[in-house]
Formats: sequence, structure tokens, C-alpha cells
Amino acid sequence: MPADTASVTGWGRTAPTTARLIRPRTYEEAAAAVRDCGARGGIPRGLGRAYGDAAQNAGGSVLDMTGLDRIHAIDADEGIVLCDAGISLHRLTEVLLPLGWFVPVTPGTRHVTVGGAIGADIHGKNHHVSGSFSRHVLSLELLTADGGVRAVGPGTPLFDATAGGMGLTGVILTATVRLQPVETSLMSVDTERARDLDDLMARLTATDHRYRYSVAWIDLLARGAATGRAMLTRGDHAPLDALPERTRARRDPLAFRTSRLPAAPAFLPEGLLSRTTVGLFNELWYRKAPRARTGELQRLSTFFHPLDGVPHWNRVYGRGGFVQYQFVVGHGQEDAVRRIVRRISQRRCPSFLAVLKRFGDADPGWLSFPVPGWTLALDIPARLPGLGAFLDELDEEVAAAGGRVYLAKDSRLRPELLTAMYPRLADFRALRAELDPRGVFVSDLARRLGL
Ligand SMILES: Cc1cc2nc3c(=O)[nH]c(=O)nc-3n(C[C@H](O)[C@H](O)[C@H](O)COP(=O)(O)OP(=O)(O)OC[C@H]3O[C@@H](n4cnc5c(N)ncnc54)[C@H](O)[C@@H]3O)c2cc1C
Repeated sequence: MPADTASVTGWGRTAPTTARLIRPRTYEEAAAAVRDCGARGGIPRGLGRAYGDAAQNAGGSVLDMTGLDRIHAIDADEGIVLCDAGISLHRLTEVLLPLGWFVPVTPGTRHVTVGGAIGADIHGKNHHVSGSFSRHVLSLELLTADGGVRAVGPGTPLFDATAGGMGLTGVILTATVRLQPVETSLMSVDTERARDLDDLMARLTATDHRYRYSVAWIDLLARGAATGRAMLTRGDHAPLDALPERTRARRDPLAFRTSRLPAAPAFLPEGLLSRTTVGLFNELWYRKAPRARTGELQRLSTFFHPLDGVPHWNRVYGRGGFVQYQFVVGHGQEDAVRRIVRRISQRRCPSFLAVLKRFGDADPGWLSFPVPGWTLALDIPARLPGLGAFLDELDEEVAAAGGRVYLAKDSRLRPELLTAMYPRLADFRALRAELDPRGVFVSDLARRLGL
């Protein structure tokens, strides 16, 4: 089976490490790769969209699962798909949308695999309504450290350890997923501006329940009275009768259309991304946003995955790469959100639009990230002087508020805070010790945090 020694990194392009990159083409090859992965162990990898070091394994093996990407069965009446875990949400959308079905949860990029979606138990703009990805998984097949394959269903400890388990319980080979019915491939979107953070949180609290999908893009470079100013974009799948008669969209309502801009250049000068340029971008974006607009029809790709239109956009941050920082704190911790947003604004991090969202009920995954409350995600160039110490302080603030950071985005959290952030960690470790006593499954993230 194809195997190379390669430098592997996450989407943030920080902390690359070298591993034996193996690309199984059959389940048998995947089992052989697990059996033979050697003293430094192995970790499954999807499309490498985790920002940090979750899908890399210095000196060991990395199993690139994207070669196993078949759809085995579609129940087009019930909206259920059985597929290999290496398939991307992009490919699933290409196949399922014309049949009137959409993936139940999508992150800000559709270039993630089903295995990565379960491994990180990803959330989307519909978390407050639909929960995270694993809620829609009816069953999965897991290749475990002994080389065997287990059928795993929801409501079992192994399922709860695997959903959000960052690939550390084994390799997900297949999954059966319940889908979301849609009449069209367009979204009906309401947009409004919020003048500051309090205004934003009040709007989200008062009206989020009216929308299946909701997110706020927040300008963290705005200061003073404008701190936390934002644009809310919320909506739902457009019904057929919302599409104007005699248009291309109406004639072919389930067509999957995407747009593609030129790729970002391989290397941009580091200095290009200064507070001034990013601040200007954010200012222009805020001014351009409508004060209020309702019922705008947008493509799925525009609404859910605006960054997918620019291939390799992660190069914009230069050779040093970037850190994505995402945390969640519970309802009632609004003051913690205010303090953190104020600190980031005062620190003047050159951060493009950040995302603020309200999460709904948590799902049972032991290391699953979402809990009911407020989540903020922002990108910061990794070479920003003093960044490590600054983020350590934010971690303390998040932990003190009973919150947590998202492991799929992380590349730098200190292990001391992890137990407070993830109270089921002890159960996770105990299950792993029993399931995988030789420690076959391991990643840079797992070593760094002692997972
Ligand atoms: C632009 C962008 C926007 C994003 N937006 C969001 C968002 O809105 N919400 C959100 O939750 N996340 C978001 N993410 C993060 C992303 O959804 C997750 O990191 C996801 O896990 C990436 O999937 P992947 O296939 O690329 O997996 P990888 O990044 O390759 O791996 C991620 C983890 O999943 C494990 N894994 C992968 N395949 C398998 C498998 N077959 N079996 C077992 N474990 C496996 C890996 O071991 C690793 O721990 C975003 C990322 C980007 C780049």
C-alpha cells in the first residue's frame, strides 16, 4: 500500500512533524497498517482540516483515510447514507443534494471527512437546533488496536469515547448517518448588524430560536464603544416556492453550485498582515454589510463555506502559520465573554473576522467540545510576539468560567487545564487503557496533552 515519509501539519501550518504517511485502499490494508504501525504508534487522518496537531504523529505512522471514500448505500426515502469514513462532506453533498438531502451538520469548510467529523464531533451553525455531528450517526465501524473491527452504536461507552475522541479509540471505517431533507440548494438568509457585543448577545439570545442556522461575524479589531460590533447571518434552507419562477434556480432547484476564486499565492510577505491592513478589511466589511436584510437567497457554499472559494487561503498567514483559538463558556458566563473580547480587542491581534455562536444542548461524547453557551473562534498569526503567554491567560479565564477550548483547533494548550475543561477525561483514559493497552493510537496532540 502507498507509504511515504512526509512532513505533516494541521491547517494552521504550525508545528510540522515527520511521520510515515500510509494511504490504505482497503479495510484489510487499514488493519495491516494498524498492526504494523510500530513503536511510535499511529493516528487516522482525514483531510487535515484540524488546525493543530490532532492528525499528526511525530516519528510514527499517520493513516490517511481519504483513499477509502465509497458510498455503500443511500436510503433516499428515509434520508440515510452508509459510507466510508474517508469520504468528504463535499463529495457527499455532490451526491446527496440532487436527491433532496443535505449533511446534518457542516463546519465552515466542506473539505472534511466523515471520520474527521466524528473524530472531532464537529458542530455547525445549527448546533443550537441540531447538536453536533455524532447526534446524527446511527452506527459506525471501528478498527481497533487489536486489528479487529467493531460495530459501534450510540448510547455505548465506545461510541461516546469515539465521538470527539480525536482518533484515539481507533480508525472509523464506515458510518451510517441520518441526513437533513431540503427542497432546494439555496439558503434564505437574514442579515443584520449589531453595533457592539451587548447588542449582539441580546439579539442572539432573543431570536436565535427562530433560525435553524445562526452565526455572528465579529470584528475584534473594533475598540471603544464599537467593541464586539458584528454582522449576524441567520437562515434556513429555502423552500421551493421561495425561488423566483422561470429562473435557472427554479428549473434545477437542487443543483449544487460552488464558486472558486484564484488560490492564495504560496507565500505572502509576513508584513502584509498587519493590524492596519486587517483593520481596514474588517472596517470595509462592516460598512458593506446591510443594516438589515431578509430573505436573501444564497448558495449553500456562500452561506456555509465562504472560505472554500479561495483554495489554500491558510497561506495568507505566511510561513509562520496561524493559530485558531476557540473556546466555549456556559450560559450565565456572559461577563467572561465580555472580558475576553475586550482583552483581544485591546491586544490588537490582527485577526480577520471572528465567529461568535450560541451552542444548544451538549451531546454525550466524552471529549466532545460543545456545551450550552457561547463559543468564540478567531484566527491569529502564530508569530505574533507574546501570543503564547496571551493565550495562556485566556485559557485561565476560560477554565475559571467553567469553559473549555476546542481540541480540533488546538496546538498549544497546557495539559494542567485539561481535566477541568473536560470532566470525562478520566473515563476516556480508562477506556483507552483497556481498549488499547499498548498505546497503538497516539498523536502529537495526545502526547502533548496526555490524552
Ligand atoms: C475553514 C475551516 C472551518 C472550520 N469550521 C469548523 C466548524 O465550524 N465547526 C467545527 O466543529 N470544526 C470546524 N473546523 C475544524 C474541522 O471541522 C475539524 O477539525 C475536522 O475534524 C476536520 O476533519 P478532517 O477530515 O480534515 O480531519 P483531520 O483534520 O485529518 O483529523 C481531525 C481528527 O479526526 C480524527 N480522524 C480523522 N479521520 C478519522 C477516522 N477515519 N477515524 C477516526 N478518527 C479520525 C483525526 O485523528 C484527528 O484527531 C474547521 C476547519 C477549517 C479549516
